[in-house]
Amino acid sequence: MSLPALWELDLCANWEVFPVARYGMLLDLTACAGCMACTVGCQMQNELAPEVHYIKFYQQEFGTFPDVSLLNIPVQCQHCENPPCVYNCPTGASYIGDGGIVLIDEHRCIGCKYCMTSCPYNARVLDEETKTPVKCVFCFEQIHKGEQPMCVRTCIGDARIFGDLDDPEGELVRAINERHARPLRPDLGTEPKFFYVW
Ligand code: SF4
Ligand code: SF4
Repeated sequence: MSLPALWELDLCANWEVFPVARYGMLLDLTACAGCMACTVGCQMQNELAPEVHYIKFYQQEFGTFPDVSLLNIPVQCQHCENPPCVYNCPTGASYIGDGGIVLIDEHRCIGCKYCMTSCPYNARVLDEETKTPVKCVFCFEQIHKGEQPMCVRTCIGDARIFGDLDDPEGELVRAINERHARPLRPDLGTEPKFFYVW
């Protein structure tokens, strides 16, 4: 069987398989109820053990008594543009995949944990069975089917928006601009693709 010539291929039909996008997320902490529904949804989606969390919750107090408030801050992989986990991986097992999603190839991982120690967001956890690190992958298999990541679908406060950071007219970019969303620890130079409103 001979291969079709390039000009005979329907490139548009295949475009969906390799979407040109730079995926990111906004999390509006003022709308987050701290219910952890996203964490539970993530555990179900990824079939994680009860004690394993890709989304970790931190709390931060603001103000002085009696005018104080408490913010719940869910933190998962920030899918950094400059990911130290990728740069410090000696085998190339950690890499930036389609859509800028940071992924782990468990077949190339030697379990050295350099990526875990170099992640300033503490986003990776060790899979005790395979002895390799795991983390949020923006539910890439679901998004390639046109679905939203599970944490977005399970969020009861509509606090999360997922989308393409390269689409200036998209809901994500508009929300980032309108709500003045910011990344966590921009001083680290990791350039997260995850933005928070607080
Ligand atoms: S948050 Fe951590 S694991 Fe995720 S891309 Fe950034 S450095 Fe890597
Ligand atoms: S995007 Fe998917 S894998 Fe990542 S935290 Fe949310 S549910 Fe879990």
